[in-house]
Amino acid sequence: MIFNSLNQWQMGFTKPVIIAGPCGVESEVQLHQTLSNFKGMGVQLVRGGIWKPRSRPGSFQGLGVEGLRIFKKVANHYNLPITVEVASGEHVSEALKHQVNVLWIGARTTVNPFAVQEIAEALQGEDIPVMVKNPVNPDLELWVGAIERIYQAGIQNIAAVHRGFSAYERSKYRNQPNWQIPIELKRRFPTLPLINDPSHIAGRRNLIAEVAQTAFDLDFDGLMVEVHPQPDQALSDAKQQLTPSDFGLLLNSLVVKQTQLDDVIFNTLLDELRNRIDQIDETILELISKRMELARQIGIYKKENGITILQVERWNKILATRIKSGALKELSESFIIESYKLIHDESIRQQSNVALSSKTI
Ligand code: PEP
Ligand code: MN
Repeated sequence: MIFNSLNQWQMGFTKPVIIAGPCGVESEVQLHQTLSNFKGMGVQLVRGGIWKPRSRPGSFQGLGVEGLRIFKKVANHYNLPITVEVASGEHVSEALKHQVNVLWIGARTTVNPFAVQEIAEALQGEDIPVMVKNPVNPDLELWVGAIERIYQAGIQNIAAVHRGFSAYERSKYRNQPNWQIPIELKRRFPTLPLINDPSHIAGRRNLIAEVAQTAFDLDFDGLMVEVHPQPDQALSDAKQQLTPSDFGLLLNSLVVKQTQLDDVIFNTLLDELRNRIDQIDETILELISKRMELARQIGIYKKENGITILQVERWNKILATRIKSGALKELSESFIIESYKLIHDESIRQQSNVALSSKTI
C-alpha cells in the first residue's frame, strides 16, 4: 500500500499536524469557547465526537446528527475543517451529508472487521481522508487490516492514529503506549502519516506533555489532543481534557526535532556511537546463543533423568536475582521482567525441542 503523505492530501496539512477539540461535542457555546482560542495556535483540524462509544450504558452518548450540524456551523465561523468518529455506514453517510472534512475510525471499531468493512463499503467512490485509530488490543495486524479495508475502498488519504492499548493491570497510563507497535507500522509503511493521541494514552492531564514529546522524538507526523473549556464538567473523558490555555502551554513546551542534520561533525560522532551499539548488539546475540546452547544441554540432561522442563522455583530465582542485578545497572524492573520472559520462553521452547528429539549429550 502506498499512501499520500499529509501534505499531499487535498487539504494540504503540514507536519506536525495539530488536531484538537473536545472529546464530545456538547453544545454550541462549548464549541465557541474552544475554537475561538485556536487562532494563532496552529490547529489545522478540529476534532469532536458526535456518536460516543461508552463503556457503560447511561453515559453521555453524544448529540448525534444535531451535533454534526452545530459542529460544522461553528467550525465554519472560524474557518476550520472538522473531523468526527464514525462507527457505521450510517455514520459515514450522515458525516458526508454534513460536509465533515476528515473521518476517523475509533479504537473500538478498528477491532471489528465487520464494522470496518461496512464503513469501507459506505466510503466506496468517496473522496475524503480517513484516520484509523489503533485497535484497543495490541494487535498490529488488526490495525493494518482495518487500514487495508479503507484503502481497498479507494481512499488514499489515510492516517494512522496511535491512542495506546488497554491492559488489565493498573498502570501509569490509561492506555499503554507500546511504542514498538506504531514504530513497526511506520517501518512497514513509511509514507503513511502517523499521528499520536496523547490524551487517550495518558488519561490524565499531567501526563499528556511527556507522551506528546515522546511522539515528536519518534518523528510522528502530528498530534490529536482533547481540549474542553471546562474539562472538569466535560460529559466524557473529563480527567484528560485540557483547557484551551493549558493546550496553548503544551504546544509551546513541545520541541519538534529534525530527523537529519547536515553537519559532518554531528554525523561522524553519531556514526561512531552507532558502531559501538552494533558491536554490543553482536555480543548480546552471541551471549544469548551461548545461553540457549546451555539450555539445550540442560533439556537433554533433564530428559534423561525424567525431570520436568519448567521448574517454577528456578524461574522465580532467576527473575529475583536479575531484577536486583539490573537495578544496580540502571535497568528498570519492568524491562528486566519483559526481556527475561522472552529469554525464558525461548529457553523452554528450545528445551522442549531437544526433549522431543532423541539427541543425547
Ligand atoms: C475519542 O477520540 O474520543 C475516542 C473515543 O477515542 P478512542 O477510540 O481512541 O477510545
Ligand atoms: Mn475521548
